[in-house]
Amino acid sequence: MKIGVYPGSFDPITKGHLDIIIRSSKLFDHLIVLISSNPSKNMLFSLEERLFIAKELTKEMPNVSVECHSGLLIDFLMDKDIHYLVRGLRAVSDFEYEFEMALANRWLSSKGVDTIFLMTDEKYFYLSSSLIKQIASLGGDVSEMVPDIVNKKLKEKWKKK
Ligand code: ADP
Repeated sequence: MKIGVYPGSFDPITKGHLDIIIRSSKLFDHLIVLISSNPSKNMLFSLEERLFIAKELTKEMPNVSVECHSGLLIDFLMDKDIHYLVRGLRAVSDFEYEFEMALANRWLSSKGVDTIFLMTDEKYFYLSSSLIKQIASLGGDVSEMVPDIVNKKLKEKWKKK
């Protein structure tokens, strides 16, 4: 069985992420969306919220599951004998970081893990979670760029603050 892992912070999931999930799920027998609980990052959504949202959005996708992980990504893959990572590529600025991470993961896994890159849909070229948080925090409308459930949760967040 060919399994792929799509790792990220997903704080929050955007339509750009969702597009990568849908497209990459067709490349594998099973796709795991892996939410990192890296404590050094300042997240707007808790791990539980990010898990809940991702599970809601993928519940109709039969070969997609959602998990979370802290620590080294490669340990998660090695434990489960998984050999493929999926990442999305947007503007040129993603390239250097992604290139470095892909090489590091290949090296750490003794060439046992390869990263598959999917080019973003042109609609989502400039879309990032941080941009969404910035616009939403100032009261802007992000409904075109995030799934409805995320839009609703963002509104709740800023109402509370
Ligand atoms: P990380 O903190 O690991 O970069 P993100 O949640 O920001 O996690 O992103 C996870 C992955 O999704 C990365 O490979 C990123 O490049 C990709 N991604 C983010 N936004 C988009 C988008 N609009 N289109 C395509 N890929 C995207």
